Amino acid sequence: MDGLLREAIARIAGPGNVVEVRVLTDQFTHSGYFSDHDALVRSVEPLDTDGSVHGIYITLNEVNPALLSRRANRIKMRLGKKDSTTSDADILRRRWLPIDIDPLRPSGVSSTEEEHGLALAKADEIARWIAGLGFPDPVRADSGNGTHLLYRIDLPNDEAATALVKACLTTLSAFFSDERVNVDTANFNAARIWKLYGTVSRKGDNTPERPYRRSRILSAPEVLEVVSVEMLRDLVARLPTEQQAQQQPSTTKDKRFDLHHWLSDHGVGVRSEKPYSGGTLYILDQCPFSSAHKDGAFAIQFGNGAVFAGCKHTSCGGGTQRWQELREQFEPDRAAKRKDWEQKQKGYRKDRATAHRLVLLQHLQDRERLRQPGQELHRAP
Ligand SMILES: [Zn+2]
Repeated sequence: MDGLLREAIARIAGPGNVVEVRVLTDQFTHSGYFSDHDALVRSVEPLDTDGSVHGIYITLNEVNPALLSRRANRIKMRLGKKDSTTSDADILRRRWLPIDIDPLRPSGVSSTEEEHGLALAKADEIARWIAGLGFPDPVRADSGNGTHLLYRIDLPNDEAATALVKACLTTLSAFFSDERVNVDTANFNAARIWKLYGTVSRKGDNTPERPYRRSRILSAPEVLEVVSVEMLRDLVARLPTEQQAQQQPSTTKDKRFDLHHWLSDHGVGVRSEKPYSGGTLYILDQCPFSSAHKDGAFAIQFGNGAVFAGCKHTSCGGGTQRWQELREQFEPDRAAKRKDWEQKQKGYRKDRATAHRLVLLQHLQDRERLRQPGQELHRAP
C-alpha cells in the first residue's frame, strides 16, 4: 500500500504542496494538513487498517499553504466543533476536473463485481469520447466502488471556473448517466475532497457479494498535459442549455409541440430520458445523422417548448441544431412541403422583381411622355 499511496500523493498533490487529509468514520472526522508527504503516508497507514474508517480523502485543488499551521503534518483525531476543515475560499487554484463514475445501488453498501465492472466500462466510454474532443490523457483510478477520471486543469478559483467545471460535469452526466451508472454532478466545488488512492473503501459490511476494495490509480500519463479553457468550453457546448438553444437558428418554439409523443409516434428509439435545463433530454438509441456510430444523438424539449436535436460527436456537428433535419427524416411530407414552400418563395421573389421592373419601365415611359407634350397632342386624334 505504501507504494500506491506515495504514487497517489505525488500524482494528485504534487511534491511539497499542502493537502488536507480527512478521515471519515461513523461518528467522527479526523483531519490534518501535510506538506511533508512521507509524514502523510506514515499517519494514514494505521488509519487505513482501522475497521471503523469508511474512507480516507484528500483535497484535490491547491490549498492555501497557511492552513498547514492548523494541524501541521499530523492528523488530529475526532475534530471538535471549533476545528475547521478546508472551505472553498481556502482554495488558490483549480487543478483537477474530477469525474466520479459510480454504479447505482442501495446506499451504504459496497458495489458488486458486476456493478464495479459497469463503472469501469462507463469510464472507458467517457474517456474515449473526451479523447475525441482532443483532450490529453487523464489519470484513471479505481475508487473502490466505482471509477474516477481526473483531467488536469489550471484555473483560478473564481465563479467563472466553478460554473465551467459544474457545466462540464452536468454535460457528462446528461450524456452518460443511465439507469445503472451515475456520473456525479456534485463535485464542482473547489474544496471537494477525493478518495486518497491506495486506501481501502469500506461501505457497509465486507461481504463476498459486496467486498471492500482498495482504491488505486489504474493508469496515468507520464506527463500530465493541462486541458485548456477552450477545450472545456467545447465540451460544454456539445449540449446546449435553453439559453444557448434560443440563439441557434431553426429552433421550434411551439409550446403545443410534444417531443415525447413525436418520438414515440415516429418510432424513434429512446435509450434514456432525464430532466435537463428546465426541460427533458432524450438520449436516442441510434444516431439518425450518421451510420458511423450508434451512440451520441439526443433531443431536448425545453421548458418554453423549444426543441433541439443534435449529436455529441464532432463528425455530426458536435451539438449544433439538427432538429429540422431529424423531423423531416421522419416526416418526409413536411420536407416536401418545405421545399415546395421554398420554391414558391423563390418564385414570388422572381415575380416581385419582374413586377418591380415593369413598374419602373412604365414610370420611365410616363416621364418621357411628359417631357414631350407636343408629340402627345399631335398623336391625339
Ligand atoms: Zn452522430
